Amino acid sequence: MQQRTSQLLNRLSESATIAMARKANELKSAGVDVISLSLGEPDFDTPELIKDAGIEAIKNNITHYTPVPGLPDVREAISAKFKRDNGLDYAPSQIVVSNGAKQSITNVVLSLVDPGEEVILPAPYWVSYADMVAFAGGTHRVLPTSIEHDFKIQPDELEAAITEKTRLLIYSSPCNPSGSVYTVQEIEALAAVLKRHPQVYIISDEIYELINFTGKHCSIGTIEELKDRVITVNGVSKGFAMTGWRLGYIGAPEWIAKACSKIQGQVTSAPCSIAQVAAGAAVSADPRIAETMRSAFLVRRDLMIEGLSFIPGLKVNKPMGAFYLFPDVSALFGKTAGPRTIQNAEDFSMYLLEEAHVATVGGNAFGTPECIRLSYAASESQLKEALSRISKAVAALQ
Ligand code: PMP
Ligand code: GLU
Repeated sequence: MQQRTSQLLNRLSESATIAMARKANELKSAGVDVISLSLGEPDFDTPELIKDAGIEAIKNNITHYTPVPGLPDVREAISAKFKRDNGLDYAPSQIVVSNGAKQSITNVVLSLVDPGEEVILPAPYWVSYADMVAFAGGTHRVLPTSIEHDFKIQPDELEAAITEKTRLLIYSSPCNPSGSVYTVQEIEALAAVLKRHPQVYIISDEIYELINFTGKHCSIGTIEELKDRVITVNGVSKGFAMTGWRLGYIGAPEWIAKACSKIQGQVTSAPCSIAQVAAGAAVSADPRIAETMRSAFLVRRDLMIEGLSFIPGLKVNKPMGAFYLFPDVSALFGKTAGPRTIQNAEDFSMYLLEEAHVATVGGNAFGTPECIRLSYAASESQLKEALSRISKAVAALQ
């Protein structure tokens, strides 16, 4: 029997972050002492008050199917959070909770993009965006940025990338993988361009909102002339260390929320009722419960930037959010270690895994092939050890 997979499947690639985490785990199971800086997930535990809310939900038998877009009081809590933290007015009917922000974004892309339409992805972009567009049969258009501009797009570059086929712009701020955070002024300058192109919708992925070292988060949905075209994505995975609970959400124009609900109703139904209640408690809590994590990430960021500054060939900017560094390693291309030649960032990432036993992710999957991503969601001692291993591995290159 021929093992034939669909054309849709053939269009997709495996998530590079997940693939690297899998390789690192395989080596670990084989007894190799791998330091994993590949998968983007906080190394903290979910705060007690959120876990307690989940336990209470089980005890109170909130264990049945819920409405597809989520429990009414959880959507109420998310609506209040959007207002309190972001100045966004989304009624509960404009909110859909999903199995992680990953599903939230997929729902939106599938709701809006037709085959042949274009989606602009400022690079570096989060790995899964491009494949989500492929799911819908759309085409993604990479809009490159540079380390000199802190990996942020400039308004004239955005203007030049928009065509009559452009349906969506997807970006994250704080950004995975660059850690860059758009300021209010930068968002306003991009918004001025977007106002001139009423066919373009915007997915603003704000999942790293709480891991921000600038003290100021800006949601593009607050801009009055754009609010009918903005879908704000957020979730509890990063800010509240809840990756395994699988809970993300959107605030969107009501017709888009309804469309997402329709898709979700045929694919997964609502996410887990217990995770919904826990997420409701998370977004209703004082956002300062995320502060311990945020300040730990800041210390680690500085430790990593300093450590990398002593390693020749790795150029880094100073990310203002999330928990990633995205060094440009192109100065190492062409160097050799024994029979191995480092031709690109994927080769370098593989070299670090196999020789230094440090797992990172090559920049190709983020649309920026000269960089690699390091997640510093690991303990300070692990980070120091990783820096020492990377330094030795780079020194061994000829
Ligand atoms: N957006 C970005 C930018 C991410 O890094 C991630 C990965 N955690 C997600 C969305 C999806 O997160 P989750 O599905 O865990 O809510
Ligand atoms: N978003 C995280 C990352 O970028 C988790 C992995 C994934 O969902 O792809 O590493």
